[in-house]
Amino acid sequence: MKILCIGRNYRAHAEELKSEIPKEPVFFMKPETAIIRNNLPFFYPGFSEKIHYEVELVLKICKLGKHISEKFAHTYYDQIGIGLDFTARDIQENCKKKGLPWEIAKAFDGSAAISNFVDKNKFKDLNNINFSLNLNGKTVQKASSSQMIFTFDQLISYLSKFVTLKIGDLVFTGTPSGVGELHINDQLEAYIENEKILNVNVK
Ligand code: MG
Repeated sequence: MKILCIGRNYRAHAEELKSEIPKEPVFFMKPETAIIRNNLPFFYPGFSEKIHYEVELVLKICKLGKHISEKFAHTYYDQIGIGLDFTARDIQENCKKKGLPWEIAKAFDGSAAISNFVDKNKFKDLNNINFSLNLNGKTVQKASSSQMIFTFDQLISYLSKFVTLKIGDLVFTGTPSGVGELHINDQLEAYIENEKILNVNVK
């Protein structure tokens, strides 16, 4: 399986990183070895001094697809969860300056913590799912899927132009504003619609 991640899908987040608002989705990938499951800890990597948290809604792909039209995109994902896109921001800033790819800042082992997944039919409106992240008990990110620049269906359609989507693939749909630095011993708790769904300690 693979993990497809969308960058800059919330206006306020693009602005806080002084990035342009994209006209088309920006995407990058993480390998399977990036995944942290079952609320296991995140180990702060030695190669970075500025790891940021990014909370995101994550789609789970349930059907093989290529060149998926927006109209049918909703049939290609059946579950939604929460993910933390851990980012070595110091390294990413350097990559951006030099026009280099982001993989070393984004795709390292442990860089994708994921929750258990929920049947998408449990949500009243997929275009208005509320989610948030607490850092040491204080809310640092809080948003709704209604604030996304590109909807879930637009993302699936766009990604599938370039990459075949396979059953079990994950799509991180972008983070809202409020990203920030992590430190050893920090505790992260992520919520969908006020239900705690992910818990990660930094070691
Ligand atoms: Mg992200």
